[in-house]
Amino acid sequence: MGVERRGAGGADEVLAAEQYLVAPGAEWRSELYRVAIDQFTRAADVLDLEDEVRSRLLEPRRSLVVNFPVRRDDGTVESFTGYRVQHTLTMGPMKGGMRYGPTVSLGECAAIAMWMTFKCALMGLPFGGAKGGVRCDPHRLSESELERLTRRYASEIFPVIGPDRDIPAPDMATGEREMAWFMDTYSQQVGHPVPEIVTGKPLVLGGTEGRDVATGLGVVFCLESVLRGRGERVEGKRVAVQGFGKVGSVVVRELAARGARIVAVSDVSGAVAEDGLDVDALLAWVAEHGFLRGFPAARHVSRTDVLEVPCDVLVPAAVEGQITGANAADVDCAIVVEAANGPTTPEADAILAQRGIEVIPDVLANAGGVTVSYFEWVQDQQKYSWQGEEIVTRLRLQLDEAFARVWEARCRLGVDWRTAAQSVAIERVAEASRLRTIYP
Ligand code: NAD
Repeated sequence: MGVERRGAGGADEVLAAEQYLVAPGAEWRSELYRVAIDQFTRAADVLDLEDEVRSRLLEPRRSLVVNFPVRRDDGTVESFTGYRVQHTLTMGPMKGGMRYGPTVSLGECAAIAMWMTFKCALMGLPFGGAKGGVRCDPHRLSESELERLTRRYASEIFPVIGPDRDIPAPDMATGEREMAWFMDTYSQQVGHPVPEIVTGKPLVLGGTEGRDVATGLGVVFCLESVLRGRGERVEGKRVAVQGFGKVGSVVVRELAARGARIVAVSDVSGAVAEDGLDVDALLAWVAEHGFLRGFPAARHVSRTDVLEVPCDVLVPAAVEGQITGANAADVDCAIVVEAANGPTTPEADAILAQRGIEVIPDVLANAGGVTVSYFEWVQDQQKYSWQGEEIVTRLRLQLDEAFARVWEARCRLGVDWRTAAQSVAIERVAEASRLRTIYP
C-alpha cells in the first residue's frame, strides 16, 4: 500500500502500524475512480505532465458527504446518503450533474467530477468539474418522497453550491422536475428567485430551448464528424443503443431520423433486437409504460446481449462499466460512441483498440449536455433568452471546434481518441494551474 507520509513529525509509531495507514486517494477508491485515474495517467504520460500539476489534478479539491432523513409516505423515516464532489476550482465555478441511483458513492462522484473538468476544458467552457447525487432506488420512491428527498439534499449541500460556485444539472434519474424543486429550495433559502443555481430547468423557470435533447444531439453530431472522417454517412448504418432514457432515446430518434437502422435497444428492464426496430412505436411504448419490458413485435434479448449484437455503431447510453475485459472481445461493431459516462474500462479499451474498433470517448461524445447547460446559465445571468435555432447552431459550432482539436491532437500525438481528448483538456487546465500558481 502506498503510504501517506507528508512532512515530518512525531507520528512515526502510528505510520509504522499498517492498520492506521491511509493510502493517497483512498477516500475515492472505487472501480470508476480507478478507471478515471488510469485514463488520466495515460494522457498525463503522453504530455509528460509535471508532478506538481499531476498531483493537483489527481484528487478532487472538495467533497461533501451528507446523511439526511426523509419521511416516507407511510410516516416512517429513512436516512439517505448524498454527495457533492468538486474536482477543480481553477477554471471557474464548478458544473456537473446530480444522479439518483443505488450505486451512487463518493468514488463514483469523484471519477465523474474529474471527467467533468476535462469535458468542460475540452469544450472551452469556463467551468471546473463537479458531480453529486443521492444513493437510493428512485423507482421505489413516490413523487412526493422524491420531492422531499430532492429538497433536503439541496439544502444539505447548500453550503458548497451557488450560481458562481457550483451549478448542478440533471443526470441519471433526475430531470426538469427535480431541477424545479432544487431551484425552488435554493431560492427559498436565499429569499429571491435564483434560476441560475441549476441548469436543465423547465423553460418557464428559466430553462433553455434545446437542453432536453442537447446530450443526445451532441452524440449524433460527434458520430457524424467521425463518419465524415472515414468518408461515411449515418444513413444506412446499423446502430445498437444501450439505455433508453433522456440520452439514449434522443440518440435513437435522431439517428433514425437521419436514416440509420436501429437494430437493438435496451433499458434496465430488458432489451429488444430486430433488423430495423420501429422507433416511433418504441418511444410511444416507453412514454406510456415507463420501460421497454413487454414491448410487442420484437425479439427480446438479454440486457447484456445488446452490447454484442452485430452492428456498425454501438452507443452505450446507460451506466458505467458496461464494456469490460470480459465482453470486449464479443463487441461486434466498427465504432463505439460513449454517450454514457465511463462505459468502457481500460481493459476493454485495450481489446477494442487491438481489434481496430474506434472508441469516441465520453468527454467528447456526451459534452453537448454541459455545453447547452452553459448556454442556459449564460441566458439566466443575462436575463435574456436565445432562440432554439441559435442554440443548435452554437452547439454544433462548439462541438465541431472541440472535435477538430481532438483530431489534431490524435494525429500530432499518435494516440487513440480518448487519450487525445483528455490531453487537449489536461493541457488547458494545466496551463491555468501554472498561471494561477499556488496560494499563498
Ligand atoms: P436516465 O436515467 O434518463 O436513463 C438511463 C437509462 O439507462 C434508462 O433507460 C435505464 O433504464 C437504463 N439503464 C440503467 N441501468 C441499465 C443497465 N444495467 N442496462 C441497460 N440499461 C440500463 O439517464 P440519462 O440522463 O439518459 O443518462 C445516461 C448516461 O448518460 C449516464 O451515464 C449519464 O451520466 C450520461 N450523461 C447524461 C447527460 C444528461 O444530460 N442527462 C449528460 C452527459 C452524460
